Amino acid sequence: MGKPLIWHDITWPEVKKASEETGIAILPIGSTEQHGFHCPCGVDTFNAYELSKLVSEKTGVIVAPTMTYGSHPYFHYGFVGTIPIRATVQIELVRDVVKGIVNSGFKKIVIMQAHGQWWTLQTALQEIALDVDCFMAVATWWELACETIKEVCETPFKHADEVETSVSLALYPELVDMSKAEPDYSLKPYIDKSFVRPAVHSELINSFPIESITFVPQENVMKTGAPGDPRKAKAEKGEAIINSAVDVVVRLIEYLKKTYKPDEFPRVKPELKADMY
Ligand SMILES: [Zn+2]
Repeated sequence: MGKPLIWHDITWPEVKKASEETGIAILPIGSTEQHGFHCPCGVDTFNAYELSKLVSEKTGVIVAPTMTYGSHPYFHYGFVGTIPIRATVQIELVRDVVKGIVNSGFKKIVIMQAHGQWWTLQTALQEIALDVDCFMAVATWWELACETIKEVCETPFKHADEVETSVSLALYPELVDMSKAEPDYSLKPYIDKSFVRPAVHSELINSFPIESITFVPQENVMKTGAPGDPRKAKAEKGEAIINSAVDVVVRLIEYLKKTYKPDEFPRVKPELKADMY
C-alpha cells in the first residue's frame, strides 16, 4: 500500500501526471451535521475523505477535494451544528466540480458519498450524464457494505448510531467520546411507524422509505440527535464495514484501469439528433 494521492497536496503537473496514468479520480462528498453528544459534526465529511484515502492507497488514484457541505432531508433542518445546502444548490455544485475534474483530464469519477443525500446525488449524476462526457459512479459506504453491516451490527443504520459510530471509532477514535454516548428513543413518529422504513437495511419492508413521506418528526426535538443506541458501537465492527466498502470501490477502479486506457471511459452521453433541452 502506498501513500494516498491528494489533489490539494500536489502541483498541477502532478495532477496532470495522475490523469495521464489512470484518468480516474475519487470525489469525496460529506456534509456538516450534528452527530449526537459523542461524535463530531464532521463525521460525514471525515468518513468520505478517509475512505477515499484508503482507496487511493490501494489504487494510486487521486482524491479530489472533499465537499464538506451537503443537502439534507427537511427534518434535519434546525438542529444546531447542521449546515444544510439546498438540493438544487448541491446538484449545481457537483456539476461544476465534476466539470472541473473532467477538464483536468479525469474522465472516470467515483463519488465516495457519506451522508443521507443519495436522492440528490443520483439526480446530479443523471443530469450531469446528459451534459458532460465522462463516467461517474456514486454510492454511500453503507450501500457498498450493506451485507457486512447486517452481519456485524445488531441494529439497522440510521444516524450516529451503532453503525456510524463504529466507523468513526475505526477511523478517528480521538474525536469520539463514548462516555457521552447514550441511547435516544425520543423521536415519536407523527403517523404509525409501520408505514415507514429507515432508508437502508431495515427489517421493515412493504412500507414507505423515510425520505419519501413527510411523516418524520423533527430531528431537533431529539435529546441527543443520535437515534438508537450508539453504545453498541465497536471499532472492529467499523473496520469490517470500511473494508467491505473500500473493497468494492477498489475492485471497480481496478476494473476500469484494466478495461479502459487513461483517456477512455464507458461512454454515457447519448447521441442526440437535436438539442433536447
Ligand atoms: Zn453521518
